[in-house]
Amino acid sequence: MVETLLAQEPMLRLSVFLSVLVGMALWELAAPCRRQEIPRVIRWTNNLGLVVLDTIILRLSFPILAVGLALMAEDRGWGLLTLFDLPFWLMVLVSIIVLDLVIYLSHVMFHAVPALWRLHRMHHADLEFDVTTGLRFHPIEILLSMVIKLAVVAALGAPAVAVLIFEVILNATAMFNHANIRLPKGVDRVLRWIIVTPDMHRVHHSVVPVETNSNFGFNLPWWDRLLGTYRAQPKAGHDGMTIGIEQFRTPRDLWLDRMLIQPLRGPASGGALDSKKDTE
Ligand SMILES: [Zn+2]
Ligand SMILES: [Zn+2]
Repeated sequence: MVETLLAQEPMLRLSVFLSVLVGMALWELAAPCRRQEIPRVIRWTNNLGLVVLDTIILRLSFPILAVGLALMAEDRGWGLLTLFDLPFWLMVLVSIIVLDLVIYLSHVMFHAVPALWRLHRMHHADLEFDVTTGLRFHPIEILLSMVIKLAVVAALGAPAVAVLIFEVILNATAMFNHANIRLPKGVDRVLRWIIVTPDMHRVHHSVVPVETNSNFGFNLPWWDRLLGTYRAQPKAGHDGMTIGIEQFRTPRDLWLDRMLIQPLRGPASGGALDSKKDTE
């Protein structure tokens, strides 16, 4: 069963990715939240081009990725989880929750350390907020995140199935919670107790620094509430708020070549420890 699942890994990833992408794109057409000013063709071509580039760079840079390392760890009996006599399902659940917490913490770190913020702010520099924004990460951020994930997988001894489930879910929820969709207020209120919703994550894409530096969760919404980084709504409202960061506000900045060199351009302002503009 486990072997079959892992043999199907590339197809599983690709089909979940494509179905969620198409599903969200259709949902955005049917029930959009905000009116988009920038032609979709420019942003989508460049954002999706970046996904292809990221995938190639990631595959070429690492001899082994997270699921592969988890298989190796299982084989050799590595990891903290092996010290406890846990049932398999509980090991899977604990691994998924710990991985999600680590992703939350590294997201906070990418906002707090100026050099890392230079890489991560490219995700925030998108001038609109839709399903493709959720896929827009600088290749170096992708590589660093993989290093962190590999370290956690080896230290935990996370089961390979847990790592695969986590990565597939995270990919799907990232597209869901960046989608330009309007959920009924009541549905959003209930849903954001179990998963990060588009309205919750949109706050994180506000141009206002205190809002940019809140709602770091990508998947489970609990970490923001527990650790004091939760902000319910944008001050200007979802229709009135401005998406993006102060720098890089021209349509030319949305092109792939400009995205790649963004970390080298201008000051590293706007991060979590940049207190100059940190006013309510
Ligand atoms: Zn962020
Ligand atoms: Zn985001």
